[in-house]
Amino acid sequence: MSNTELSRMNKPLVPLATLIGRDIGNLKIKKPFVKYGQSGLAKKGEDYFLIKTDCQRIHGDPSTQFSVFAMFDGHNGMSAAVFAKENILRNVMSAIPQGISRDEWLQALPRALVVGFVKTDIEFQKKGETSGTTATFVLIDGWTVTVASVGDSRCILDTQEGVVSLLTVDHRLEENVEERERVTASGGEVGRLNIYGANAVGPLRCWPGGLCLSRSIGDMDVGEYIVPIPHVKQVKLSNAGGRLIIASDGIWDALSSDMAAKSCRGLPAELAAKLVVKEALRSRGLKDDTTCLVVDIIPSDRPVLPTITRKKDNILTCLLFRKKSQDSSNKASKKLSAVGVVELFEEGSAMLTERLGKESPFNMNSGIFRCVVCQVDQPPGDGLAVNSGPFFPSASKSWEGPFLCTNCQKKKDAMEGKRYRIPIVDNIII
Ligand SMILES: [Zn+2]
Repeated sequence: MSNTELSRMNKPLVPLATLIGRDIGNLKIKKPFVKYGQSGLAKKGEDYFLIKTDCQRIHGDPSTQFSVFAMFDGHNGMSAAVFAKENILRNVMSAIPQGISRDEWLQALPRALVVGFVKTDIEFQKKGETSGTTATFVLIDGWTVTVASVGDSRCILDTQEGVVSLLTVDHRLEENVEERERVTASGGEVGRLNIYGANAVGPLRCWPGGLCLSRSIGDMDVGEYIVPIPHVKQVKLSNAGGRLIIASDGIWDALSSDMAAKSCRGLPAELAAKLVVKEALRSRGLKDDTTCLVVDIIPSDRPVLPTITRKKDNILTCLLFRKKSQDSSNKASKKLSAVGVVELFEEGSAMLTERLGKESPFNMNSGIFRCVVCQVDQPPGDGLAVNSGPFFPSASKSWEGPFLCTNCQKKKDAMEGKRYRIPIVDNIII
């Protein structure tokens, strides 16, 4: 070995692997911890939840890890809730393009969530079962939280600065005028329950079926205008972190968002979830399945979310029940930006066309068309572009939207109240 080589060996060189390791280490420091707790009490046994903290955007790459928390409150049986729990994450992931960067993946999520929800609904309907479920699906990647929901299982965000904000919309016919109008326009009847000709009682429901929700997964016996298209909201938290409370209506019929957040502040997630459930039961008793997930997104240099001192709460605000919360959501949104939370995306339209965008339906590599919802390949001519009329393959045709196979096109038409009719041809005797 020459002297030069020896001296090179003696130099305290930092191996490349260590340098890369340091970089990854720095990234890790910036990524927050996710800590969670769950609690609940069953009355009918139709609440299901999903907790998965070891998901990977790129299989085998731990630096692409993200977490999923979801709540499914079933009705008319548990099978829709169980089915959604088991399939929805896979269906969302199947709609994400391969080989994209983290930024692109975060941007692709809102659309993939719409596809995943619709696909899960179509798959469940194929089973021919009649139950239905709410679905509130929360995906946490670093400081970015993306929430998709149908039904009334809320997800709220309690920021470290004490601002409580609703990340979901209640899809309840009673409280959502827009949804009521949409259901009626699509052919549904909305009214209250009438017992033996007496006065109408209870909340507004959709008939036939008598469902109080305007969106859900399943419910094939109620009508296609009860759609599985989720409201999606994506926010980026400040590096102070924040707490999410995801729960079924057993909680929200008893507690306002503010009350739930306030009842457990300063406590670790596990204890917090127990306390929210206890508080709900104390005020209303066990009238429904009651499930609560508390998820803390914590700066990695702190062991727990710090307790915050707030100005004295306005008692009126605390007394506001869910009914009023939607009206105050705009105010909450303004407050969110004031505490450093960036609102990246929000869209709640029930029209599939508006939610899927206008990307080209044509797969250049294979020369075939892939349905944007179920990812089934179909030869040209058998399906329709989502934003156009009937599709006739021609070189001059400009694409106006992603491709839907015949089945998914039928589903889309049915959701929009357009009945799909098989053309009737008179019998011709030759
Ligand atoms: Zn399809």
